[in-house]
Amino acid sequence: MVNFFELPLKELEDIIGGIGKERYRARQLFRWIYKKGVYDFTVMDDIPKSLRNLFRDMFNIETLQLGGSFYSKDGSVKLSFETEDNHLIESVMIPEKNRLTLCVSSQVGCRMACAFCVTGKMGFIRNLTTKEIIGQVIAARDFLKNRGLSPEADKKINGHDTGKDGNQTQRITNIVFMGMGEPMDNLENVIKAIDILKDQNGLDFSKRRITISTVGLLAGLKTLKPGTAGIAISLNAPDDKKRVKIMPINRLYPVRDIIEFVKNYKTSPRERITFEYVMLKDFNDSIEDAKALYELLRGVKCKINLIPFNESPFSEFKTPERDTVNEFHKYLIERFMTVIIRDSRGADVHGACGQLGMSYLMTKNKEKAGK
Ligand code: SF4
Repeated sequence: MVNFFELPLKELEDIIGGIGKERYRARQLFRWIYKKGVYDFTVMDDIPKSLRNLFRDMFNIETLQLGGSFYSKDGSVKLSFETEDNHLIESVMIPEKNRLTLCVSSQVGCRMACAFCVTGKMGFIRNLTTKEIIGQVIAARDFLKNRGLSPEADKKINGHDTGKDGNQTQRITNIVFMGMGEPMDNLENVIKAIDILKDQNGLDFSKRRITISTVGLLAGLKTLKPGTAGIAISLNAPDDKKRVKIMPINRLYPVRDIIEFVKNYKTSPRERITFEYVMLKDFNDSIEDAKALYELLRGVKCKINLIPFNESPFSEFKTPERDTVNEFHKYLIERFMTVIIRDSRGADVHGACGQLGMSYLMTKNKEKAGK
């Protein structure tokens, strides 16, 4: 039996065409399952009954099982899932005015070992399958339909208190591959998942609403077709000397190679690659660092997101002072860089940037202590 959520439309059409049935039945299945959220073949009344029975026997439509949900007081919601082989993965829904972003994971653990990141401390366990990536989106959508965001989040989205108690339905508007794992290290499954996310018969996200966040694995990035999705590169330091201390991948892809890639990357006039810069107290948050960053990115078509670090018991780094962040920001703004401060959300439920996987590490530590 094939899992339905592993298949971009073209592959589903090939399978259905391959058994001598009309290829357009694949589009019908996509619409029922992705657009309408109907998982019961018997209800799909524009498909003949005999074919529905055949599809039921051919396609498994199980996705990830939701293990837990954690409402942050800032309105974001962390969802945790247990995979069939008993690994824990996490996604985070982040409501903002006029948008609801879902941050999805692409791997169990991660091999990039960025020093400030909890997931990096887990090490690499395995890649997520397409089904598991899409499963996070489907589960989050169904969670919203059945349980809703908190009233706090509702206020943030609508700009006022609707008086509802959290049972209202909200729609995911943006997907960011910024959860556990390095998406460009799981290229095949991530690309397939993006295909499904963008399909107009399916989840119908525009490319502008999907972002791949990467440490800058250029081998993968160079294979992306133009317009696949937005790209955010986790830079975090203005030079190799500092970057290599927190991002071992810098040995393979140094700063100059990343900048060269960005300069040559073909984008539409309005599109820009984003550089993420996690601000770590007394490491990369000084005005000298801001100056170096400015010199590095001067003339490069890009945006910069400054992300004040979220502390965790698994990292020695500290959150910078707010004034320091503001001064860093001001320095760049005054030099006409496009830069925003993005405060990470969901820290109280360990759902903020760089914190995913904390539950895994805490359980491991308890197991060790119990031995
Ligand atoms: S920041 Fe991203 S790439 Fe780096 S270790 Fe964490 S999950 Fe992996």
